[in-house]
Amino acid sequence: MDWGPNLTERYDIIVIGGGPAGLSAAKAAAAEGGKVLLLEMQSQIGGQTRSATWARANTVDQALEEAVVNEVHALKLHSPHQQLAISGDFGVILDRRIFDKLLAAEAAASGAEIWLSCPVKELLVSNGAVRGVYAEAGAWAERVECGMVIDASGAQGQWSSLLLRKVFKRDWDREQLALSSEYLMTNASARDVELFFTSYFAPLGHVWIYSFGRRFAIAGIRGIRIQSDAALDEFIGRRVTPSLEQAVPVAAFRGQQPIGGALIPTCANGILAAGGAAGQVYALSGEGLQYALACGELAGKIAVEAVVEGDTSGQALSGYDRAWRGKFEGELKVGQLLHAAFRTSFDQKMDRLFNALAGDVELQQAFANAFRGIDLTRALKLFLTSDEILGIFGRETIEKAIAACRL
Ligand SMILES: Cc1cc2nc3c(=O)[nH]c(=O)nc-3n(C[C@H](O)[C@H](O)[C@H](O)COP(=O)(O)OP(=O)(O)OC[C@H]3O[C@@H](n4cnc5c(N)ncnc54)[C@H](O)[C@@H]3O)c2cc1C
Repeated sequence: MDWGPNLTERYDIIVIGGGPAGLSAAKAAAAEGGKVLLLEMQSQIGGQTRSATWARANTVDQALEEAVVNEVHALKLHSPHQQLAISGDFGVILDRRIFDKLLAAEAAASGAEIWLSCPVKELLVSNGAVRGVYAEAGAWAERVECGMVIDASGAQGQWSSLLLRKVFKRDWDREQLALSSEYLMTNASARDVELFFTSYFAPLGHVWIYSFGRRFAIAGIRGIRIQSDAALDEFIGRRVTPSLEQAVPVAAFRGQQPIGGALIPTCANGILAAGGAAGQVYALSGEGLQYALACGELAGKIAVEAVVEGDTSGQALSGYDRAWRGKFEGELKVGQLLHAAFRTSFDQKMDRLFNALAGDVELQQAFANAFRGIDLTRALKLFLTSDEILGIFGRETIEKAIAACRL
């Protein structure tokens, strides 16, 4: 194939997207000896997607600790008519603007090249396999050839999810897409993490408020088929919580997440997808950072092996599909099963659930874990002991979820 002008030197791996999945993939691939180029469409790493992320403590090793803004020791949960306060260790709030830059530092230290302001608009295909990318911004355009591509472009914006859109020629199912908006706010009095489950503001989703350092808070909303900006403004305007009464937004973010399950498969000839672009998200809470990091790393390693072996066919890359599914597919399935149980009578079920949890500290911890995909087998087995909770989710759902944990 004629690649046209501006053909840059050839790379082993091109990673599209400088979020956690792409940075983790680039770091792993470069550490394995690959010649790696990461292309990020925004003008900085970690400035683009959102300001904060609630993460599990074990996602953050020593090198990344600088990005921790708060530790979370208390949750305040609200259903339409009930409230719960739970204490414990619930991970950390990360400043994504710093976290992603620290990941970029690690990728660069491993030898990966990073180009900013480089939106990839097309995949270059030769003999039925992806062999490069076409990036374009304003008057600038460039074709870059490579052994194979890792799609870590996330799931928001028209240039994201390139394996799905450009290779599989499909798009995310809108009925399975959680839409979200988030503000970084000042003048707020938020403490720890507060979550609201109510279909009035967030059908099949939730509203979250995190404290973010001494002077700021994060307020966000996610739901299915919502106009998330308006829903968040309405939530704040209605003064549902005193913590935001005087709050003023200083930054706004918008996002979407596919929660209908990961792509099948997450590879094709010459391309792998990791993170949001692969649909690796826990449906119930929308958490995805830990999957992006771990699956990005797997993708980076397996991509280099494939390039070195000289076989980057979809079949050769299916080892990646098996590897990440072996680690996480069961967990993601549980998130989908539990989320699906709320598709009908969301508010009533939430009130009933909060009634069932009232006064039982162990069950409350189990719910907090099940909501986030942590220690699932234990949490689900505890659910089996509560007739009330079985009445909400259905015994079959909980049994299926326990079986999924064994996958
Ligand atoms: C509002 C919101 C709140 C969230 N809160 C949490 C949370 O609290 N905890 C948690 O664990 N998860 C959370 N998530 C999910 C989490 O943010 C994602 O799972 C995670 O960021 C996925 O990482 P990623 O690298 O796959 O994609 P992203 O972080 O989306 O990164 C993709 C990158 O690719 C770039 N890009 C896109 N297209 C192109 C292109 N064509 N060319 C070049 N670059 C491109 C983008 O600019 C971006 O930098 C939240 C998601 C949203 C939307």
